[in-house]
Amino acid sequence: MLGVYPGSFDPFTLGHKDIVERAAKFCDKLFIAVSENINKKHLFTLDERVEMIREVFSGNSNIVVESFSGLLVDYMQSRNAQYIIRGLRAVSDFEYEFQMAFANRNINNSVETIFMVPGSQYLFLSSTIVRDIAYNKGDVSNLVPEPVYKKLMEKYNIK
Ligand code: ADP
Repeated sequence: MLGVYPGSFDPFTLGHKDIVERAAKFCDKLFIAVSENINKKHLFTLDERVEMIREVFSGNSNIVVESFSGLLVDYMQSRNAQYIIRGLRAVSDFEYEFQMAFANRNINNSVETIFMVPGSQYLFLSSTIVRDIAYNKGDVSNLVPEPVYKKLMEKYNIK
C-alpha cells in the first residue's frame, strides 16, 4: 500500500511526525508530499521544508520526502499511490478536511482519504503556534524535531 501525506509543513512539527510514524506502520511506502498552500504565507521555502523533513527521516527507507505542485491527485498518479493520509486534531479541522477529501475524490474516484488522530499531547499543536512562539523567542524545543528546531533558531537569530 502506497500512502501520501500531503501538507505545507511550515514547519514540520512533532504532531506531523506522530502521524507519519503511525502511517508508516501500515504503508509499504509513505510519500511526504510538501507543497505551497496558496492560502498561507510561508516562513520557510519549499526546498528548506523538504530538506528539514528529509533530515528527520534520513534512516527510514520506506519514507520518501518530496515537493509537488499542481493537483494532489496528479502527483499521486505519478507515484502510483492511492491513499491520502491526513491528520485530524480538533473538530475545527473536520470541515476543511472533509471538503478536501470530497474534492479529491471528485477528481479521481479511486483515491481514498484516511484520517488519523495523533497522540493526545499533539492535539493542540500546529505550525502556526510553533511559528508564533519562535517569533517571540519562546522555547519550541519540545514541539518540533531537532533539525527543525535548529533552523528555527537560525531564522530568528536565537542563541
Ligand atoms: P495544509 O497546509 O495542507 O493544511 P499542514 O502542514 O498544516 O498542511 O497540515 C498537514 C496535515 O497534518 C493536515 O491534515 C493537518 O490536519 C495535519 N496536522 C497538522 N498538525 C497536526 C497535529 N498536531 N496532529 C495531527 N495532525 C496534524
